[in-house]
Amino acid sequence: MNNYKSGFVTLLGRPNVGKSTLINKLIGEKITITSPVAQTTRKKLKGILTTKVGQIIFVDTPGVHKPHHLLGEILVKNAKSAIKGVDIVVLVLDSSVEPGRGDEYIKDFLVANKTEFIVVLNKWDLVNKELKNLRLDQYKKLIGASKNFQIVSASEGDGCSELIDMILNLLPKGPMLYEEDKICDQSLDNLLSDFVREQVLINTREEVPHSVAVKIEKIQEIKKDNGKKFTAIMATIIVERTSQKGILIGKKGLMLKTIGQTARSNMKRLINGPVHLELFVKVIPNWRKKESKLMEFGYEVDY
Ligand code: GDP
Ligand code: MG
Repeated sequence: MNNYKSGFVTLLGRPNVGKSTLINKLIGEKITITSPVAQTTRKKLKGILTTKVGQIIFVDTPGVHKPHHLLGEILVKNAKSAIKGVDIVVLVLDSSVEPGRGDEYIKDFLVANKTEFIVVLNKWDLVNKELKNLRLDQYKKLIGASKNFQIVSASEGDGCSELIDMILNLLPKGPMLYEEDKICDQSLDNLLSDFVREQVLINTREEVPHSVAVKIEKIQEIKKDNGKKFTAIMATIIVERTSQKGILIGKKGLMLKTIGQTARSNMKRLINGPVHLELFVKVIPNWRKKESKLMEFGYEVDY
């Protein structure tokens, strides 16, 4: 075991490039939520991949809020805090679009900071055949021709095992830091509530923006008469306004049903068994301004 390796790996990149999707794929479980809505990831979350030769601890970073005039500043501020204490930095780029300002900000920061990093070109499945060469050239120009990179598709899994090997190669020697079967540092509550919040973001888009929190009220394993077990989960979605409550419940409760169905199927996968999910919606005006509420709903009050 003396040659065992371990270390922290952070994925940097502008919002929506697929950082969370990639972490999920790499560790093979859904632990971090993803959505087409930027700023989905709010809390720092660690995903753990344990192999025979090493243990990789991926740190997912929170996304960035909207104000575009501050984008560069915020990306760099986040990057600064994200690279603290990590062993490997992975710059994630979205090959389905041309390189943009956000990519450049982060890359320039890493270079100026003399941070070693590896590059991942994600969403390769979305690039048309005729465009592939052009895209490669565009991104090579951004990162420098001599820089190694790995092409992946986080959603399909292509290139992921190569990326894991690349990371394991670079990891320093070290002991296993988490138990072998641990895949995440977050509590079950946090993971479950994020699954609900994810579906709220995906299904409501701008209508119920970021003023939503989810609190898990109860997790209970119940044994039925026939001996079969299921997990009963009760969760409250907290919004700031009555109008948002209406949107979330939807016509004849349809919206809440849609949210519940997908959240429940993700929960089933995580828990590895049947789940009964009950969702409630509650209005708490200005909950985001109350620190006690933030803590109650599981937020780290750090940015
Ligand atoms: P993050 O903000 O960087 O964490 O990005 P997410 O992981 O939340 O992903 C943003 C969106 O891109 C989601 O809708 C993902 O499903 C999608 N996505 C991520 N990776 C890929 C990929 O390789 N291929 C395709 N087609 N979609 C992807
Ligand atoms: Mg994310």
